[in-house]
Amino acid sequence: MKYFNYHTHTDYCDGKGTLEENIISAVSSGITDLGFSSHAPVYFNPAWTMKEDRFASYKSEISGLKKKYENRISIFTGLEVDYIPGITGPGSENIISKNLDYTIGAVHVLGRPDDDSLVPITGNSMSFEKSVNEKLDGDVVFSVKEYFRLLREMLINEPPDILAHFDLIKKINVDYVLFDENSTWYLNEIYDTLDVLKRTDVITEINTGALTRKKADSLFPSDLILNELCAGKMPVTVNSDSHSPSDICGLYPETFIKISKTGFKSVKRFVSRGCWTDYEIVT
Ligand SMILES: [Zn+2]
Ligand SMILES: [Zn+2]
Repeated sequence: MKYFNYHTHTDYCDGKGTLEENIISAVSSGITDLGFSSHAPVYFNPAWTMKEDRFASYKSEISGLKKKYENRISIFTGLEVDYIPGITGPGSENIISKNLDYTIGAVHVLGRPDDDSLVPITGNSMSFEKSVNEKLDGDVVFSVKEYFRLLREMLINEPPDILAHFDLIKKINVDYVLFDENSTWYLNEIYDTLDVLKRTDVITEINTGALTRKKADSLFPSDLILNELCAGKMPVTVNSDSHSPSDICGLYPETFIKISKTGFKSVKRFVSRGCWTDYEIVT
């Protein structure tokens, strides 16, 4: 089957390799549709985002490469946009004015940059717990609930085309010391978020980067969520969230076998802005 990847980072943000190096790797890996999704610029310039003054060259370089490689691969321009209420999100003026093919919406931070309460969802369980206690005036359970609350708010107020890594928050709990994914309060957050997602057209990505980049010991999202997405016939696509040309379709064959066994029949394929079609999974 053909492979698509709409979640690709390069040296325009925190990824490795130029746009072209990533395209060459994609072509040789069997990817037919490649979307770039650098972390969108935001005014406080966190280390992982593209700088605003680089966007024009990002767009024009992609456009040139699209023509150069048009007989071998389809190339699209996207951004992975952080949702920080009132500051940035997939529905921000600054993002809409960029005329992208699509957006991937993500929550990577809790708190706010303007009152020094920003807590990135990164690091290990100890460092995360410390940041939450110091900056968010809350505990870990509060912060996990806050993560899912922000996802729901984004899905309702500023729906992106694709929802990034549904349960990214498990990244800071790889040692399972902070919370139990089977606890009732955690499951309630998952089901509440699925309920909101069900009422939108947003595509949920099945993100292999959790495993290729060793951020978690299962895919984003976890099996329970995958089963619910499948049972609810909700749209999904497989993305690598690659940060290096070598990971551009990391674990795709295994992932397609897995989701086919789960019961998924198709993944979404980009056609044109706002328009995605079903592509049958063949394993
Ligand atoms: Zn992300
Ligand atoms: Zn990403």
